[in-house]
Amino acid sequence: MFASRVSPARALRTRSYSTARPPLAGLHPSVRSKAEKLSSEWKGSSATGENTKNFIGGEFVESRTSQWIDVLDPSTQTLLTRVPETTSAEFDQAVDAASEAFKTWSKTSVLTRQRFVLELQRLIRENADSLATSIVLEQGKTVPDAHGDILRGLQVVEHAASAPSLLLGEKIEGIRDMDTEVRKVPLGVTSAIAPFNFPAMIPLWSIPMATVTGNTLILKPSERDPGAAMMIAELCQRAGLPDGVVNVVHGTVPTVNAICDHPAIRAISFVGGDRAGKHIYDRGTKHGKRVQSNMGAKNHAIIMPDANKNLALNSIVGAAFGAAGQRCMAISVAILVGDAQAWLPDLVKSASQLKVGGGFEKDVDIGPVISPAAKRRILGLVGSVEEEGGKIHLDGRNIHVPNYEYGNFIGPTIVETDLNMKAYQEEIFGPVLVVVRADTLDEGIEIINSNRYGNGTAIFTQSGATARKFENGVNIGQIGINVPIPVPLPMFSWSGNKASSLGDLGFYGKSAFEFYTQKKTITSLWKAEDALSSKASVNMPTQR
Ligand code: NAD
Repeated sequence: MFASRVSPARALRTRSYSTARPPLAGLHPSVRSKAEKLSSEWKGSSATGENTKNFIGGEFVESRTSQWIDVLDPSTQTLLTRVPETTSAEFDQAVDAASEAFKTWSKTSVLTRQRFVLELQRLIRENADSLATSIVLEQGKTVPDAHGDILRGLQVVEHAASAPSLLLGEKIEGIRDMDTEVRKVPLGVTSAIAPFNFPAMIPLWSIPMATVTGNTLILKPSERDPGAAMMIAELCQRAGLPDGVVNVVHGTVPTVNAICDHPAIRAISFVGGDRAGKHIYDRGTKHGKRVQSNMGAKNHAIIMPDANKNLALNSIVGAAFGAAGQRCMAISVAILVGDAQAWLPDLVKSASQLKVGGGFEKDVDIGPVISPAAKRRILGLVGSVEEEGGKIHLDGRNIHVPNYEYGNFIGPTIVETDLNMKAYQEEIFGPVLVVVRADTLDEGIEIINSNRYGNGTAIFTQSGATARKFENGVNIGQIGINVPIPVPLPMFSWSGNKASSLGDLGFYGKSAFEFYTQKKTITSLWKAEDALSSKASVNMPTQR
């Protein structure tokens, strides 16, 4: 039982945060009624203090574990639900269910699988408000941002409907009467491990792609906000997906390690932080699995003096502070080149006007960060700027948000650092923008290329030549020209590089069809003359 392998100290830590408040205690009455509605309408998840279930073989089942992890509303520390550290017996049941389902699901026609995806697409649209409510409650982002989270996942579902075209094989009569055919066939049981920051979008990077290609899936959502994934699992069932094709198990490191080790699991899609990503890549590949691992980031935006100032500053502020900076494609470093350095006061002014508060509140721009621990870490990194001799131009550390005294809020913060300071070197993952100065475009490009991460970058300029030089010069996988968060649309694939990614096949797009399939090459000979010839040939075959 791997649940019993959790150390007592860790078990204690995962059982409950000291700041937890009883179910519904801290929720505003209007939010409370939303939480009650979610709990009554959805089978697997709760927002009123009950346990979140595992989803195994088409059943929402209560875990028999003794170890539970509290899920708290980050705006109020109200206990919303508890997720189990799935036991090894339950984990094995999930893998068995997925293995059994694979036998038939892998044989269904691609058109049947396409119809499932189209139905899932309809149901996600129909239930977007409920999904958004779950995301705001558990993750803390604002309602419009939660809808963005869903929409970007929905686009992947829509793209998965291209499967009949994208799974087309290849065939040639290479030798007379002899055909060689390459088919893309499913792998088997696959798995996805998700982070907290996009509770809908990231599960939706895997669910439609894994299933439309004929695989089955074990999903482990983030233990901090599992609700949207559970609701999507329920929508898969309502869309007619056979039992066992998608299963959801919860937990932390022991569950992740079980995924890496189980011999029946053929591939793992991971999205999250560096430490877990490297560990899962190493452990999964060691066991012969195909692994794609998307990890941390430090995304720089260069602002040239010839940029459209209004567009540049609005874009930087939106991309740095939206979702409280908890996006892997957030702009976390602004490089002000030459005369653009004079725009720093306007950047600070624009950021200072953002409204911080609970995600359900109207006109709020920035919600809380995910946990008190995340808040402490972010505040520590802001504090290190002072200690190391940098400047704090906008200080959101002591923000007071009326009616939300227990929330993990940090106001928009802008700091100026050198490249060797901790706040520049580390991924902050909070509403903190680091500003650095450069004299020239070349210097800006050099800074970006020297950074270990390679997820995203952007430039703001009105010169096509400058943009072209930037695009050719930066060694980063996803580049925006006057676009602050250049996340590829789903017909393309995720292409972060350097320390932001491990594995050669990116998420969604055409790459996903490669990731979730293996090739079979079939060589067949049907000679018309064999129907007539009556004498066997004993010569070495030489036909061309
Ligand atoms: P995290 O690494 O803490 O957790 C991600 C998943 O890994 C969770 O399911 C968690 O249970 C599991 N996990 C955590 N620690 C583990 C460990 N030591 N061993 C095994 N499994 C472990 O990440 P998070 O805090 O949920 O998400 C934020 C991070 O995700 C940031 O670094 C962000 O940049 C990154 N992210 C990257 C992308 C991308 O596409 N590059 C997208 C979103 C988020």
